[in-house]
Amino acid sequence: MSEPTESRRQRASRRAGEFPPAPEPLPRPVLDSHTHLDITVNEVGVPQGGAAADPVAAAIDVAAAVGVDRLVQVGVDVESSRWGAEVAGAYKAVVATVALHPNEAPRCRDLDASLREIETLAAEDRVRGIGETGMDFYRTGDEGRAAQEESFRAHIAIAKRYAKTLVIHDRDAHADVLRILDDEGAPETVVLHCFSGDAEFAAECVRRGYLLSFAGTVTFGSAGALREAAALTPLDQILVETDAPYLTPMPHRGRPNASYLIPLTVRALADTTGADLDDLCAAISATGERAFGPWS
Ligand SMILES: [Zn+2]
Repeated sequence: MSEPTESRRQRASRRAGEFPPAPEPLPRPVLDSHTHLDITVNEVGVPQGGAAADPVAAAIDVAAAVGVDRLVQVGVDVESSRWGAEVAGAYKAVVATVALHPNEAPRCRDLDASLREIETLAAEDRVRGIGETGMDFYRTGDEGRAAQEESFRAHIAIAKRYAKTLVIHDRDAHADVLRILDDEGAPETVVLHCFSGDAEFAAECVRRGYLLSFAGTVTFGSAGALREAAALTPLDQILVETDAPYLTPMPHRGRPNASYLIPLTVRALADTTGADLDDLCAAISATGERAFGPWS
């Protein structure tokens, strides 16, 4: 007889115990420019043993306590995009972005119908961005590329139509992302989420005026090229994100991530760029307001 399977709730509460301790608060407030609150509370649980009655409020409170007082909730499919738009309407600290993830687009039974749903949500006031969209050659093979590119192009068009920030997921696809953006014409504000390029690609993105959002990966020992990229990015083109519950910064890599761990990544970025921590926080906050604000 096999062991009884752990229920989703049991698994989530076991994993919630793995959340790392809260870091030292930041001297000035910043935002988490890219988080998946839905996945975090459903798959992992409530950070720091916050009140489970309202897991979203608990996640917001725990983050605000260390200076992360604004969050951008990012959609990956129609369902999570709808959820994000609703949560952004209900909580002042949250705004949303909506999209079909580049690995999701090739799996859509009716891509056009899903894109129409995304476009409907794009019109909402608390929806401030279109993303995460883009190209992913790591998880999607040749057979999915045409659908991925079609979806990316459609999202660029929606971002421009509704004057929303475009949030790009780019995995092993730097040249194609730039090619498609050039071909379509980029929206006014473009964010490269979880920036993963080297100095040369960063310089190209900076020249185009794009914003580079750095995740916990910038703290990893192996990320020398990424730190070189961060070091040459002007302070007013830097954003910071968790991509929670993924990409937990050092020294907690492997444990679940949440917005309250942003201070670890901000401090690593201050070390890397040589920027004063206060100045870096102020710059990130202002850039976040430009791209996604105002929150209230
Ligand atoms: Zn993401």
